[in-house]
Amino acid sequence: MLDLAIIGGGPAGLTAGLYATRGGLKNVVMYEKGMPGGQITLSSEIENYPGQSEVVSGIDLMSSWPEQCMRFGLKHEMAEVSKVSKQENGIFVLDVNGQRVEAKSVIVCTGSNPRRSGVKGEEEFFGKGISTCATCDGFFYKGKEVVVLGGGDTALEEAHYLAKTCSKVYLVHRRDTFRASPVMVKKVKQTQNIELVLNSNIKEIYGDKMGVNGVITQDKEGNERDIKVPGVFVFVGMIANNELLKKDDGSFLCEVNDQGQAVVDLKMKTSTAGLFVAGDLRIDAARQVVCAAGDGATAALSAMAYLEGIE
Ligand code: FAD
Ligand code: NAP
Repeated sequence: MLDLAIIGGGPAGLTAGLYATRGGLKNVVMYEKGMPGGQITLSSEIENYPGQSEVVSGIDLMSSWPEQCMRFGLKHEMAEVSKVSKQENGIFVLDVNGQRVEAKSVIVCTGSNPRRSGVKGEEEFFGKGISTCATCDGFFYKGKEVVVLGGGDTALEEAHYLAKTCSKVYLVHRRDTFRASPVMVKKVKQTQNIELVLNSNIKEIYGDKMGVNGVITQDKEGNERDIKVPGVFVFVGMIANNELLKKDDGSFLCEVNDQGQAVVDLKMKTSTAGLFVAGDLRIDAARQVVCAAGDGATAALSAMAYLEGIE
């Protein structure tokens, strides 16, 4: 029986583990289906993490977190949790790679995943010229032209990063104003080899058995343009990873909003006692590493208070 199960090993989960074990909890396991670090490891440039004065990649930023966060006894298991339920006796049951694990309290920090755009050709060429990670795949297009789709912080930041290695970046966005922060918009507009293709969407990504050959864009007036590129980067937002909170009847173990984000209070408590949600999966998340880490710390302190109350 675990005192605390932490699901997800991004900034929120790792920090929750650090605070819970340093605070004295003995039997704490963090389940992470991949390598600890979370979605920030997809990012190529981070310049807003306090204390980190140089621009760093997500992988570099997160490289020292696991060691520090596990220093006080946090155990890490590389495993996927597919379901969390709560028994009548108040104990939680986790399905961990098909194995049953019991825990007195749970913090869910499963974050979010890149959304697909639904553009024609996206499924066919995903991984064959279409990517959602510039740090991972940008190098393949060194000296070549690429298309970036989206108008949020991710799209603009990654377009800016790609412009350093690619000969040209076409930034395709469906409006003429951006969701991204003004500082990022300014940077992109000042980058000479980024061409803004505004009020436009991608109608089709086309190619052959070797991979992507280009995209057809269409603007609001219906004008089409053929942009021949070997690579397309899709950054059209994120989807909450809440599947493991779904019950068999499709309802959720705790209250969620219409975007599937868990409703929590300022202590990261959900509507289910003993269940906490931290980081990008919660409502009104600022979607920042520093905020996810703060949530993780808060959730751990709340879990400890909960356990003191029931033990
Ligand atoms: P995540 O980082 O999403 O971590 C969730 C973890 O849970 C993942 O490792 C996942 O593998 C794991 N997981 C999911 N489901 C399961 C399961 N069922 N079982 C086990 N493990 C599971 N923020 C900034 O502050 N500055 C930036 O410059 C910045 N740039 C960004 C650039 C990009 C390209 C992206 C995508 C995001 C960026 N962000 C940035 C946002 C930041 O990455 C997130 O806000 C932050 O990572 C959220 O942390 P989290 O711990 O809540 O979730
Ligand atoms: P986002 O802010 O939701 O932006 C998604 C973008 O994709 C929007 O511009 C949207 O257009 C567009 N879009 C959505 N669906 C589309 C479709 N089907 N076809 C074409 N375009 C589509 O997502 P994000 O940029 O991934 O950012 C996610 C969160 O992480 C945000 O809160 C962001 O601030 C944060 N983040 C922060 C940093 C940083 O702090 N430096 C870096 C990256 C991300 P519309 O604008 O028209 O809706």
